[in-house]
Amino acid sequence: MELRLYNTLTRSKDLLRPLDPLNVRMYVCGPTVYDHAHIGNARPVIVFDVLFRLLRRLYGAEHVKYVRNITDVDDKINARAADRAISIRDLTEETYRWFREDTAALNCLPPTVEPRATEHIEEMRILIERLVASGHAYVAEEHVLFHVPSMPDYGRLSRRSLDEMMAGARVDVAPYKRDAMDFVLWKPSAAGVPGWPSPAGIVTPGRPGWHIECSAMSWKHLGETFDIHGGGIDLVFPHHENEIAQSRCAFHSGVMAQMWMHNGFLMLEGEKMSKSLGNFVTIRELLDEWPGEVLRLAMLSTHYRQPINWTRQGLGFAAKTLDKWYRVIGDVEAETGDANPFETEIADRLSDDLNTPSVIAHLHHLAEVAEHEDTSSALRRRFKGAANLLGLLGDTETGWRARQKEGIALDEGVIAGLIADRIAARKAKDFKRADQIREELAAKGIVLMDNKDGTTSWEVSR
Ligand SMILES: [Zn+2]
Repeated sequence: MELRLYNTLTRSKDLLRPLDPLNVRMYVCGPTVYDHAHIGNARPVIVFDVLFRLLRRLYGAEHVKYVRNITDVDDKINARAADRAISIRDLTEETYRWFREDTAALNCLPPTVEPRATEHIEEMRILIERLVASGHAYVAEEHVLFHVPSMPDYGRLSRRSLDEMMAGARVDVAPYKRDAMDFVLWKPSAAGVPGWPSPAGIVTPGRPGWHIECSAMSWKHLGETFDIHGGGIDLVFPHHENEIAQSRCAFHSGVMAQMWMHNGFLMLEGEKMSKSLGNFVTIRELLDEWPGEVLRLAMLSTHYRQPINWTRQGLGFAAKTLDKWYRVIGDVEAETGDANPFETEIADRLSDDLNTPSVIAHLHHLAEVAEHEDTSSALRRRFKGAANLLGLLGDTETGWRARQKEGIALDEGVIAGLIADRIAARKAKDFKRADQIREELAAKGIVLMDNKDGTTSWEVSR
């Protein structure tokens, strides 16, 4: 089966040829954690979950690596934590927990790795040092800036003119910039703002710009070049353009990712969603009213590249559809794998640039057949298996929920956070708290090992 995906870089549907079919690698820009995610944020999460499931089907689950980052250092986070008078760590932990609950309710599989920006400062510093050393970046007034004219083919992804790019970037006119398009890789932190030791000989502690985070985290977890990079259409410029500039110039490579995929905008009842207009709805608010599966089906009813008009009517239609499908399948077990011709048919339709409307039309057809022409359990089992590939009809025992059931509900970021807390507790001679953390992790199947150099490593005990 051939997988074709629309590549923003080439403006055509390209055949995916993984650099290594035994390790298919995808990176998707994740949330900035300071508030409840809105329904527009759910679109890339669901769309790339469908692609993740398809890649697992085509290449084998163990041969696909999906990385979605968590931006936990950002000026919006600092401002919100100050507003609420809570610590930055408490704010990002709480928001990240909400995000995980929301995406689990939408029946999205957890990505293979969910790296946090604050745990990759060292990689960012290395990239910045490289860019400075090779003349692609420079230091000015304790900032490090990427020098856009140093990259001859900057702008290849968005294909915009310089004027359009300047308008799109809402360029800050700063006197220390060599070129108006130059963007921040690192900036100084005033007292009271999170700061880390700065790169490039800068004495004042500082913090990274947003774009460099993704270059650092994709490099760490996927390598210098990988297969697919995804996100919302609003990220093409400047965010993805700048990620490409940083990574390609740091590694002297021709491409950062082979395939760049972007989902379209989400409109709410025909209007642009905006807090100031009062039409703004969070995933959580919708989940209070509708099962996550209804939101998922409603989202997939529009092709991912088209703008989607999110309406109550659309949700009602999705709910009715699911009612019918559940009624038709009864309580059969799903048949999955190559033996199920319906599942193969669904995978085939998805392989044409994730054509979910075509898949859903086909599922409607199968439901009709199962209801009126062939009511055998064999057919119903195959229908259920086919829907499962889209993350519908009771695929609730896989992924996140299964991990929770097994007690491995923690991801790497959370474990690393608890380990850091434990090291701090031991330093403060709070051995009771340190033991408590060890036991808490042990209960979830995570075993800690204290190393001679003062660090702690961990492994899953079963
Ligand atoms: Zn990104």
